[in-house]
Amino acid sequence: MPEAIPLSFGETVSQSFSTYWTYLTHSFKDPDVHNPLIYLFLVYAITFSIEQLAPKRLNYPVVGRKGFWTDLMYLFFIDFAIQAIGLYAVATAVEFIVLKLFSNAGIETPLFNLHDALPPYLRFFVFFVVIDFLQWGAHFILHRSNFLWQFHKIHHAQEQLGFASTRHFHFGEYLVLKPAFWIPFALCGFKTADYVIWYVWIAYMLTFLSHCNIRINWGFLKYVFITPETHFWHHSRNIPGKYGVNYASSLAVWDLLFGFFYNPKDKEPVLGIPDNDVPETFWGQIVYPFKAIFRMKNSPEQNKDKDFVAKQTRQEKRRTQR
Ligand SMILES: [Zn+2]
Ligand SMILES: [Zn+2]
Repeated sequence: MPEAIPLSFGETVSQSFSTYWTYLTHSFKDPDVHNPLIYLFLVYAITFSIEQLAPKRLNYPVVGRKGFWTDLMYLFFIDFAIQAIGLYAVATAVEFIVLKLFSNAGIETPLFNLHDALPPYLRFFVFFVVIDFLQWGAHFILHRSNFLWQFHKIHHAQEQLGFASTRHFHFGEYLVLKPAFWIPFALCGFKTADYVIWYVWIAYMLTFLSHCNIRINWGFLKYVFITPETHFWHHSRNIPGKYGVNYASSLAVWDLLFGFFYNPKDKEPVLGIPDNDVPETFWGQIVYPFKAIFRMKNSPEQNKDKDFVAKQTRQEKRRTQR
């Protein structure tokens, strides 16, 4: 199979996008469950309805809460401009590129054909568990790296959460880590494009639900999957340590395994980040990480301090108030 890939890098990327576009237009003409756009609207409708039916924290409304309209802007920006078209295309492009690089080096792929060695239902299970662990690891790094935290901070600066808060994050997060996720699958004989839609079916529903302000008792399920109960603690500032808890994307087991599961019963989460210096406007947030990183670069000796940018902004504010 690798020898049948005579494409250049540019051709590969453009072919991936055009294949996806053909698939998408076909899906609109003949809709079925594989159409990600139809599913996206279903997820929005279901999670928004659950929020209306069973709101938990009544000190802020479901519609019109702080950041509601900005979140809707993010929803369309991420899901339609970046994610819906990009995710599938990026998966197939990375797959093509990895196989071609190996083929050019004279190495036969797949290195280990896990795909054919597994029955179909186990293939999806393995794909889901591995990709979820990679997501967990990427999320953990987003909290530990001062550079990446400037991007991820946009998601955590939100002080009131709802279904659309799921998509309130900086697109830079995707560009840094996600493309690398597809490499191990390509080398194990997986055609990621066959699985990504099914992963999205489950992962989207779980992450959208986890940002909903709802009063549902999840029982033992909170030890298996991400839930609003545990993800609200991930978004909270009254937690032990400064690097966060509950990094789960879909499965909570990684947090339990590595000791980051946190769900106290004797207090309520206080949403947001300490010393919040993130602007409230959409475009202000899009440029925020670049400005913050530029400032860090100009003060390299203080780079190691995670809260340096926030501290500097506080000092600047104090100076101008005097
Ligand atoms: Zn986070
Ligand atoms: Zn979140």
